[in-house]
Amino acid sequence: MTIKIGLLYGGKSAEHHVSMQTALAVIKALNSDKFDIYPIYITEEGQWIKGAQLNGPVDSVKELAFSEGNALSPMALAPTLFQSSAEQGPFDVIFPLLHGPNGEDGTVQGMLELLNLPYVGNGVLASSAGMDKVIMKNIFAQAGLSQVNYVWFIRSEWETAREEAYHNVENEIGYPCFVKPANLGSSVGISKCSNRNELEAAFKEAFMFDRKIIIEEGVTAREIEAGVLGNDYPECSVAGEIVPKDKAFYDYKAKYEDGETSLIIPAEMTADEYERLKDMAITAYKALDCSGLVRADFFLTHDGKLFINEVNTMPGFTPFSMFPLLWKHTGVEYPELIERLVNLAIERHQEKQ
Ligand code: ATP
Ligand code: MG
Ligand code: MG
Ligand code: MG
Repeated sequence: MTIKIGLLYGGKSAEHHVSMQTALAVIKALNSDKFDIYPIYITEEGQWIKGAQLNGPVDSVKELAFSEGNALSPMALAPTLFQSSAEQGPFDVIFPLLHGPNGEDGTVQGMLELLNLPYVGNGVLASSAGMDKVIMKNIFAQAGLSQVNYVWFIRSEWETAREEAYHNVENEIGYPCFVKPANLGSSVGISKCSNRNELEAAFKEAFMFDRKIIIEEGVTAREIEAGVLGNDYPECSVAGEIVPKDKAFYDYKAKYEDGETSLIIPAEMTADEYERLKDMAITAYKALDCSGLVRADFFLTHDGKLFINEVNTMPGFTPFSMFPLLWKHTGVEYPELIERLVNLAIERHQEKQ
């Protein structure tokens, strides 16, 4: 039996283009008898466009985006949007391949819950708590996970007392520090700061993307990531290391443009370090009430200290992205990984009925 997948991609988010690329790669990799793919494109303005079933290979992101259909505002969302076609009935599963706000943050997940459709990946709570780095870190702290120190501000606090905000960062965190929009990904809006001038510029930059920002102590450490897969019995993949070339940090360019970052899988680490990392990844997964998948990002210092940096509830998903590669090295090939995710989505949906 073929599984009818409604693939949501694009999205009203600063990570729109990342999602476009990911969707194209997923569709190419899923070109098999097992899946019928129906693309549903969300424009940067938040209009929804449903395409017809894809019957042949798709070569470009543009072709994928405008395969058919009319743009609809979410307000005008007819129930038919989530049917593969009038004759065939609803999709078996929705794959929200969306990154960042308005997609990875629980909003789309909430809509899919109300429509009673199974969907791949995390539910409403884990998606929204995982999207907000402050909320996520507070939950991780409560679960006893080691993290770097952080402070946070909402825009109004900064607008009314800028000096005080900078002082606070310098006293509590110091330099170097990382300034980030609280709700985003792909390193968009993130700056590393070594002095007051850079800090001021970084606040301005981060507040362009969010009304809330987080400032973290900068660590000198290796960057290690692991994938977690499952619902109530989560499993952890082997670990992988990210080595960006000659960079202050793993920024947007290093992630998607310059092609100079190496992914080393499995990461070279001691058995004890890996055991601790695995425990932390699973603890984080349970603390946020995750289901489906996450990619957990860590820092490993040269004296063997591990800090959890964050989890991503819908990580990059091309066959060359870290999450699928980690599972490949763990013994789960790409098509099987997608099938596992689809099955986990259906399993979670059935348990709730
Ligand atoms: P994504 O979701 O794509 O993984 P993101 O936008 O959520 O990224 P982070 O993972 O928090 O952002 O940070 C991006 C990168 O910035 C990290 O991979 C790392 O290179 C660097 N970085 C972030 N925080 C710190 C820190 N506290 N100390 C040192 N480096 C950091
Ligand atoms: Mg992230
Ligand atoms: Mg992310
Ligand atoms: Mg990250």
